[in-house]
Formats: sequence, structure tokens, C-alpha cells
Amino acid sequence: MYYIRENAKAILEENVAKYNRFKELNLKLDMSRGKPCVEQLDLTNGIFDVFSSKDIPIGSQDYRNYGIIDGIPEAKELFGALCGVEKDEIMVLGNSSLTIMYDTLQRAMQFGVDGNLPFNKQEKIKWLCPVPGYDRHFAITELFGIEMINVPMLNDGPDMNVIEEYVENDSAVKGVWCVPKYSNPQGIVYSDETVIRFAKLKPAANDFRIYWDNAYMVHHLGKDVPLLNLLQEAKKYGNEDMVYMFGSTSKISFSGSGIAFMCASKHNIDSLKKLMFFQMIGPDKIAQYAHVKFFGSVENLLKHMDKQAELLKPKFKVVSDVLNKELKELCQWVEPRGGYFFGVDLPTGTAKRTVELCKEAGVVLTEAGATYPYKNDPNDTSIRIAPSMPSIDDLTKAMEVFACCVKIAWAEKEVEKE
Ligand code: PLP
Repeated sequence: MYYIRENAKAILEENVAKYNRFKELNLKLDMSRGKPCVEQLDLTNGIFDVFSSKDIPIGSQDYRNYGIIDGIPEAKELFGALCGVEKDEIMVLGNSSLTIMYDTLQRAMQFGVDGNLPFNKQEKIKWLCPVPGYDRHFAITELFGIEMINVPMLNDGPDMNVIEEYVENDSAVKGVWCVPKYSNPQGIVYSDETVIRFAKLKPAANDFRIYWDNAYMVHHLGKDVPLLNLLQEAKKYGNEDMVYMFGSTSKISFSGSGIAFMCASKHNIDSLKKLMFFQMIGPDKIAQYAHVKFFGSVENLLKHMDKQAELLKPKFKVVSDVLNKELKELCQWVEPRGGYFFGVDLPTGTAKRTVELCKEAGVVLTEAGATYPYKNDPNDTSIRIAPSMPSIDDLTKAMEVFACCVKIAWAEKEVEKE
């Protein structure tokens, strides 16, 4: 049946009947969490065997002791190679890249960026937010009272005309959040042209920085999709100080018990380290050394990610199959080539209602609007689906419920208009 207003009543009736049958099943399913499943975590269990009390993890210095604020040399070498940067362009730190991003912005607020006036002392601070995007990024900028500006995501990254217009003409614009590879939530990879246009920006503000959160740099589902290295590109235009790059092993090894890193120009790293001195004496070097021992090389780490992909691929296929079979006429999405999510655009004005219907039927989705600054999706259209955690059977059932709810939400609206 076509999804046109004339058919809305019949579609509503058919799907409400189906929905009531789903409700009788008392389902408890969750597609909201972008967490690795148990089988993915199990892939890293060998890290518990990389040393014992007989083989104390001393490394090139005694890693049981204080010190080495920017990470152990072995970890800088491994993750520097992974990120395509030199050893003096990376700091390997604690267990979370989000913490590094928060700290970096907090320092900018309180102490300023590289000798500039602290953001807190400047009249107005604005931040560019490609949408839909990562809710935790937006939560940080909202917490600091920074004005967030939506920038539409296109199929090859954010709309660069909008980015250039703001960055090059408004000195209150101090930053932009980017997830350049397999973006959260749409799984989009920035094209070469997009990366080069970022690298070439001529910001109106000296203290403008690109927050390049490469959280999914090795999280391909099929063939890897290459991404240009922003720091190296920016160097070609003398713009290397404009770039902060972040990453972690949260979805490579253990989420929350992995290690995180930040890459930047040597100048920026030196400037950041001066303030970090007041915050800590050194990161958890045992965790860093364990990761180095476990992965050994970039090549091995990539093989490990192939195994992760084998576990995730069938789950992504379930979501894709249901979307294609049931919702092609009503929804729009990009087939993700990696990462952890599907970003789906529902008919205008139906995302909140769909999430509510799903919840009543026992299927938890990420809150509608969460992928927009201030949780305000102006068209109430964007939904994030996280397929990694549930089993294939649960996911299949949850997607059936989801498809039914999208149709109900659409049909209710059409019937209302009559
Ligand atoms: N950045 C993005 C884009 C994410 O999706 C996530 C987690 O979902 C994170 C950062 C969190 O990273 P970490 O665990 O290193 O703090």
C-alpha cells in the first residue's frame, strides 16, 4: 500500500492491530545504547594475560610509578602510527576521549587558548554543531553556556559553505564538533574535499579550533573507507595549530577501561601540557603498556577490528533489511559503512511520537531530539538506532516494532490533517 493520505486510515488500523499484538508480548528490548556487546568485549580478554607478577610491566621506565604526563613512548609510537602523526604530536592519556575534550574546552574557558583571552572573559562564544551529531558533544558546549549553531550534515560531511561563512566572518565562533569518520549517528565519512576545506579555513578568531573526534577511525563494517589526515593537510596551509584530534580504544578494547589520546601540533601539545601539569602527575601507564603488549602493532589492531566488524555486520544488516523492506517510502537514511549507529530521518513531526510508541511497546530508542543541540530537533525527524548491544533475535523483533510505530505515527498525523 502506498503511503499517501488516502490510505492513511487503513494503514493506521492495520498497524494499530499489529502494535497491540506486540504489546501483548511484554517485550524488553533496547536499541538506544552505543555499547559493544559481550562477544565484542570478549575479543580483548587476552589483555588480562599479557603480564603477570613474574613479568612486571616495567617497560622503558618503571610504569608502576608516577610521571610521564603525556603517555609512555611505546603507546605514543603505536597510536601515533595509527593516527598518522609524529611522537611529539600525540599525548596518550586516560580512559576516555570525552574527558580529554571536556578538559580541553574547560581550559579554554578558564585560561584561554594559547595566550588568548579566556572564553569566560570574552563577550560571546559560539560553536558550530553539524547535525545530527553526538549528544555528549552538545552537552559539553551547552554546559559551558556556549551558543550552539546547527550546521546541516550532507552526504560527504558538514555543509562547508556554512562552516566557512561562520568561521571566516564571525570571531565569536571558536570551535566546531566533528566526527569525521563513520559519524555518530549517520555513519558518514567526510570526503577529501571536505577535509581539505577544513584544513584551509581562515578563521576570524585566533583561538578557533577544530575538535576532530575520530572516535570511529578503525571501525569499518566492510572495506575501510579512507579519511584524509586533517593535521597533515592543515600543515600544508600553515594551519596545524587550528586542529585538535581525539580518539580512544573505547570501542576497540574495553569501553571505559581503554586508553584515549589527543593529537595536535607540537606547539599546541606543549601549550596544553603546561596546564595539564596542574591537573595530574601522570596517566595510568600500566593500562597503556597492557594495550601496547596486547595489540603490538597497527596491523594487529586492524585485524582485531576485522573481528569486531564480523560481529557487528549481521546486526547492521538486520536494521538495514527492515528499513529497506518496511520504511523505504517513509524514511531517509545513509547506509553506514562503519561506526555504531544508523541515523534515520522519519516523516516530519513524528520522531517523538515514534519513540513514545516504541517505549510503550517495550522497545527503548535514544530520546528523540538527542542528536541536536539543546535536544531540539526543529523538524522532529531524527532518530538514532544503535544495533550493537541486542542479540540478532532481539534486534529483529525491535526493528519490527519500530517499523510499525513509524507507520502509526505517520498515519496518525495524516488522519489528523483530514
Ligand atoms: N566520541 C564519539 C563520537 C562517541 O560516539 C563516543 C561514544 O559513543 C565517544 C566519543 C566516547 O568516547 P570515550 O569512551 O573515549 O570517552
